[in-house]
Amino acid sequence: MQPFLKLLLGILFAAIIAFAAYRAKSLSRSGALGALLEGSIIFGLGGWQWAVLLMAFFVSSSVLTRLFGKKKASLNEKFDKGGQRDIGQVLANGGVASIFAGLHFFYPGAAWPWVAFSASLAAVNADTWATELGVLNPTLPRLITTGKPVERGTSGGVSVYGTLAAAGGAAFIALLALLCTPSLNFIVLEPSFVLFFFFLLLSGLLGALFDSLLGATVQAIYRCPHCNKETEKHPLHTCGTQTVQIRGWKWLNNDLVNLFCATMGAIIGILV
Ligand SMILES: [Zn+2]
Repeated sequence: MQPFLKLLLGILFAAIIAFAAYRAKSLSRSGALGALLEGSIIFGLGGWQWAVLLMAFFVSSSVLTRLFGKKKASLNEKFDKGGQRDIGQVLANGGVASIFAGLHFFYPGAAWPWVAFSASLAAVNADTWATELGVLNPTLPRLITTGKPVERGTSGGVSVYGTLAAAGGAAFIALLALLCTPSLNFIVLEPSFVLFFFFLLLSGLLGALFDSLLGATVQAIYRCPHCNKETEKHPLHTCGTQTVQIRGWKWLNNDLVNLFCATMGAIIGILV
């Protein structure tokens, strides 16, 4: 297909998806704009294989956000944002992947953009699945650094369900990445598809682990003096009260942590 026509179709496809997600209240208005931008690059400069992986991440995380709504309703306020993803979240999760889809356009014969793209999406998908399903763990999560039990939804808390969900999220992307591997210079990887799968699984798990590690140590965490609860929300809590920072670096919010998680996945991708 001619590059210009492909880009045009990509933008059109991205616009349809972003609008549908906005109407379904999975994305806020700014989030839809971010999705349009990322979708245009990934669909228009990458191609259908790249689109499949992005859609797998996007649809599965939107569905998981909605599932178990009742059970999560009481816990969700601990998270930085509600079910509607805004542009910060969209760019934090898919921005790194978009860059590699764009790089594929300039290095069409190279395998590394596809590997880094898949590894980055494996990491953010692992992290999202872990966040959405980890709260359902029957026992309290434990802080990744100290092993001390913490409240559900606490940044840096890990659990059995969360870890299994992270592995599932990474495996889901890894499997699709294998099935969709474009016919690039993949002769190098052909005899070791299983290795590619496990490598993406590892990238995803390490990315999610890195996310938890930052959450437990340097991510900015706040407290609501009214509800007396720990939260990622700032400046205002869900109740409308101004939150006070209790630990972490002020500039390191949840979006940046997710961005680092996505970058970590891609870096591991390129290294291997
Ligand atoms: Zn409050």
